[in-house]
Amino acid sequence: MNQLRQLIKHSLTAVIPRRLFLVQGAPRLQVPTPSLAAHSDPRTQIPIALTFDDGPHPEFTPRLLDVLKHYQQQATFFVIGSQALQYPEIIQRMIREGHEVGNHTLTHSEPALTSAKQFLEEISQTDQILHEITGCIPRLVRPPKGKLSLGKMLGLWRRRKTIVLWDTDPRDYQMTDTAQINQWCEGYQPAAGNFCLMHDNHPYAIEAVRQLSENQQYNIQSLGVSHWLGCSANQTQINHRAYA
Ligand SMILES: [Zn+2]
Repeated sequence: MNQLRQLIKHSLTAVIPRRLFLVQGAPRLQVPTPSLAAHSDPRTQIPIALTFDDGPHPEFTPRLLDVLKHYQQQATFFVIGSQALQYPEIIQRMIREGHEVGNHTLTHSEPALTSAKQFLEEISQTDQILHEITGCIPRLVRPPKGKLSLGKMLGLWRRRKTIVLWDTDPRDYQMTDTAQINQWCEGYQPAAGNFCLMHDNHPYAIEAVRQLSENQQYNIQSLGVSHWLGCSANQTQINHRAYA
């Protein structure tokens, strides 16, 4: 992401209400952090949001869900509608195991080649697919590559969506072996409220969750994005009757 886009992102974060646009959690906000881990741990607990895009994937997503369950980490998945249609049982498992599900368009079409009308149509189609699978319409949306135009943004807000970007990016989609994710995990210094972007259609997120959860210096506790909106996971679903 270039410097100009970073600047625009930070400027938007400063002026737009959190219920409309989130890049990270609010470290200054007094966030109650319910400990999902039962045991007491002397390491400092750092609440962050692990987010996974571009799934569900038939092999990697179930393995990732196993690891999240093992370490009692709650994640947010921004799923592609066409993938959800192919693997609805994986979406149902995400919900059953306490994770949050957001909309990442129907086909992950290239933002530069997708009009606002087409983008919003893909959002609506994915909403319908997720509604059929889960009974709910997600409030959280992550646009492909984090790229939006004014028309796309306004269209999402008219649909009462919260746009969710990220402030931490290991670029796991570019990695070619486990050594690269190991190196990133070793260098990562988590801060409360980090929104970390990874991908569950690649294998490296699985190892990242394992390593971050077992770090000896800190104790990250991943919470769903709704935690930073000050609402519960099921309040991040839009009542379909109110959605015309
Ligand atoms: Zn994506």
